[in-house]
Amino acid sequence: MTEGQTLFAVFALLYLIECLRLMPSMAWMAAGAGKSRWGVIRPWSRLHVTGGSPLLLAALPPMNAHAAALPWLFVPAEDGLRVRLAEGMPLTLGWDSLQPRAEESTLHLDTCTQVRLTSPALAGTWARRISEWRRLAPDKRRVAFLKHARTSLDTEAAEKAAIEAAQRTRGLRRLATVLFVWCFGIISVVYHRFGDGPLVLSAAGVLLLLQFVQAWLFLRATRPFKKLVPHRRWRALGVAFLPQLAMRAGDAVSFATEKEPPHPLAWRPLLEDKQWLSQARQFWREARYVPGWTQNAVLPPEAEALRVFFTHEGIAEADYDPPATGKLPTCPRCGSEFQAGTTACKDCGGVELREAGV
Ligand SMILES: [Zn+2]
Repeated sequence: MTEGQTLFAVFALLYLIECLRLMPSMAWMAAGAGKSRWGVIRPWSRLHVTGGSPLLLAALPPMNAHAAALPWLFVPAEDGLRVRLAEGMPLTLGWDSLQPRAEESTLHLDTCTQVRLTSPALAGTWARRISEWRRLAPDKRRVAFLKHARTSLDTEAAEKAAIEAAQRTRGLRRLATVLFVWCFGIISVVYHRFGDGPLVLSAAGVLLLLQFVQAWLFLRATRPFKKLVPHRRWRALGVAFLPQLAMRAGDAVSFATEKEPPHPLAWRPLLEDKQWLSQARQFWREARYVPGWTQNAVLPPEAEALRVFFTHEGIAEADYDPPATGKLPTCPRCGSEFQAGTTACKDCGGVELREAGV
């Protein structure tokens, strides 16, 4: 590797590190710009770091704005609080063992369970909310959860928040795209063709100048919500002198919000219909067909909240809970087919199977 190539690799690596975020393992991230369709990014949920998982933001130009969403991580049940730390079965913590406490973005639930949330403010909100739920009677807990669920499924608010993030970062993202092309494209080509010399130095000078402009744009964009951007001035200084920070300057602005992240299904106006519906089906299956489910079981609170939401959105039951199509008894949660005569799916903790066509 020549010196130039090494420098290029170091810059690329620093840039990728800057694109990494530690997020709740169950988080969803929408990446997009304006009203056009947004894409969804998920964290590497197999990798756990202090109660969260790393997520790689959309790294290639044109630069996108980002908005986070969280499924319901905490759901009250009779025997305790169901906590969804990762994909798969939730954990149940007894109401008496709970001692919710926020520390930065991490929520400590008892002596050994911790959950990473999207911001210190959200960790504080959940510590308070869970303490409140603890004191309530079981039926009041259900009501309190349904109220929270309704707020988090507000599609208009979720769309507005994402579009606002895109508008606030427009200038920063445009210049970031130019910086990306300049840093990884133009300078590399100039270096490759002309080697070390005045031409490369001038290209680097232009890069520095563009970074100064980006720092100014960053300070201007964050002026209305200074408190939500930690170390704002230091960060601006970094943007002025470090290309990787300059190219990702929009991220801190995207994430500076006091609002609670919505439920991912509230992104209906932002996502492709087909993609949204397949997610809706999955959320429904996991909420409705909980371990031990039988035809006669009471609707769990998550499923009740989703059913109200689907009715409000005008989605027919056959769309979000299509009947089994195979000839054999099927598990409504994981979709596995079983030999005739089997009644429950062991993999899903004893979910009652459905006969064909039901
Ligand atoms: Zn199953």
